[in-house]
Amino acid sequence: MGKVACNRGVARVIIKPRIRNNICLTAHPEGCARLVSAQIDYATSRGPLDGPANILVIGSSTGYGLAARIVAAFAYGAKTVGVALEKPGSPLRVGSAGWYNSASFDRSAAAAGRGSWSINGDAFANETKDEAVALIKKHMGRVELVVYSLASPVRPGPAGGALFRSVLKPVGNRARVKTVDLTTEQVSEVALEPATEEEIENTIKVMGGEDWDLWMQALEAGDALSAGATTVAFSYVGPPLTFPFYRGATIGKAKEDLEATARRLREHLARRGGSAYVSVNKAVVTKAGAVIQGFPLYASILYRVMKERGVHEGPIEQMFRLFAERLFAQGGVPEDCEGRIRLDDLEMREDVQEQVRRRWYEATTENLREIADLAGFRREFLNLSGFAVEGIDYEADVDPSGW
Ligand code: NAD
Repeated sequence: MGKVACNRGVARVIIKPRIRNNICLTAHPEGCARLVSAQIDYATSRGPLDGPANILVIGSSTGYGLAARIVAAFAYGAKTVGVALEKPGSPLRVGSAGWYNSASFDRSAAAAGRGSWSINGDAFANETKDEAVALIKKHMGRVELVVYSLASPVRPGPAGGALFRSVLKPVGNRARVKTVDLTTEQVSEVALEPATEEEIENTIKVMGGEDWDLWMQALEAGDALSAGATTVAFSYVGPPLTFPFYRGATIGKAKEDLEATARRLREHLARRGGSAYVSVNKAVVTKAGAVIQGFPLYASILYRVMKERGVHEGPIEQMFRLFAERLFAQGGVPEDCEGRIRLDDLEMREDVQEQVRRRWYEATTENLREIADLAGFRREFLNLSGFAVEGIDYEADVDPSGW
């Protein structure tokens, strides 16, 4: 954050990106708002559609959760409650991108007459679950769909004890992973040490299915679920190339747990005429994905190959397909042999993967710009924090409160 100026009593600042270890530490309110509007335009242009009228999204401020909330509100006209944990912006402090996204979503929803209520709180806490149930009861009665889209590095331990921390490490053996640094654009190989049993268990605690299950129990106990209520959480499978840093790593163990939770929840909800799903989504640039070693390299090659074939998608296109062609499609929900929804069909197409595989092995610092969409990946990475957005004057000062 740069110079602070005072204008009509409101502090205004120039905000620049500050990036460390593939994490952007600052965010630009106007850039975030512009990109939320673009997603809203996309969803609006595809509606109005018939579907669920009341939706809860857990992890609603960025990435897949934000896109799901936008599709629900602007393609389906639904009322939404959103839960996220973000750093608030204030007149003297720059907030996180998710804070600005939520503020912008709520503003647009209000202008369009779509009920929206956003909770900024820890989704793992009982109080946050109680607050969501109370909001649902007050404004909606019950919800028909619960989207669980949390991606968190930590979860509070029982009774305020030590935090459970998720780690991104291989399971079993040491792995060598090819990766790219988004700041220096250097391609290199990093050695990842295998996780301990405790690290695996902690990652499952944070990113597995337990908290999703607790949310569904709290909603049911609070009579906030409609009779046929459905819930969906998100997973990733990926090709063998990504196995060492995803499915064969601690995060993959957490996803196995999430998928097992979906099967249990499905049996339970079926008694009330509802269901539970895991949707296997495509690799997209989000805050959570950018910190996984190997992921930015894989995704920047994938983006290039999918763009060349005209089949590239981001979170909003994926979430629109989830609603329109999967969850609320005519003729039932299509599933794979393990009962999962697949939205990664285009990513996993043989012709796409054959090209990605070839370029992955060829990739060097020198040729990366030719064979991968590094520029596109970097732009989307900056976009996550509201930077590199066309039409925004980044030399102008802005009100960092975001409202
Ligand atoms: P993201 O980082 O963009 O979003 C995470 C959301 O969780 C944010 O809204 C954040 O505020 C919220 N959150 C984090 N900790 C919280 C807490 N303690 N309490 C309340 N809210 C909290 O992540 P994303 O990539 O959209 O991931 C969402 C889900 O999709 C994850 O399960 C992820 O594994 C899955 N997924 C991601 C990809 C991908 O390529 N990004 C692919 C397939 C599946």
